[in-house]
Amino acid sequence: MEEDYGAFIEDRRAEILQRVDASLAVSGRARDEAELVAVSKTVGLMQVLAAIDAGYRVFGENRPQELHRKLEGLDLVQEARPVRFDMIGNLQTNKINAVLGRVELIHSIGTMHLAEAVSSRASRRLDAGELAAPQRVLIEVNVSGEETKGGFSPDELRRSMDELQSLCGIRIEGLMTMAPRGDKSRARACFAGLRELRDELRVSSGLELHELSCGMSEDYEIALEEGSTIVRLGRVVFDPSFEVL
Ligand SMILES: *Cc1c(COP(=O)(O)O)cnc(C)c1O
Repeated sequence: MEEDYGAFIEDRRAEILQRVDASLAVSGRARDEAELVAVSKTVGLMQVLAAIDAGYRVFGENRPQELHRKLEGLDLVQEARPVRFDMIGNLQTNKINAVLGRVELIHSIGTMHLAEAVSSRASRRLDAGELAAPQRVLIEVNVSGEETKGGFSPDELRRSMDELQSLCGIRIEGLMTMAPRGDKSRARACFAGLRELRDELRVSSGLELHELSCGMSEDYEIALEEGSTIVRLGRVVFDPSFEVL
């Protein structure tokens, strides 16, 4: 069973990389201009280890407790093959301290309240020498305007940029969004909208905002064609029953 899974995840990775390359070529980019985050939130340690063997180095979790379980379980392999974890989901303010310094990037700062809370805790930890560098974060934007989705609306973000930029303890590296499901043209419009908003804010804020975290199992190729720099892939990486079309 484990051997089969290892073979599956390797073959699947080869296929994903081929598609990533083709999509990046559409936007005139090379392999190293996009990062693959393997979203491990629904799988166990065995699958994560198989993914490390297959070549994945960045993982995404959305619950601090599960993040800890994985970090503890991986302790032995960390040194030989450094892997990193990102926080990709809704982060409650009372869980911030549990992820600060343990994750490389927090993708999902979706409200000013959360930004301020991460900022104040990170500042305190930096002052105490418990955090080596400001926490890298992305701002989540609700580009599609769907009510069920979190994040700043584009207008809200335009209005909030000055305040966000003034927060200590965090480094805003770019934007993140989730596209509407099941509609490729709406997904494309959403990713293009994120890129255009980034281009606009880059000029108005002076921040580089290099990262665009967008694209999941069903739409990562479209996202990469539209300029995504980080795709977050769950089922397509880990689930043998997910069909690659
Ligand atoms: C679960 C999750 C993903 C991965 O979704 P798949 O469709 O399985 O690729 C990506 N981003 C976020 C924020 C998620 O919660």
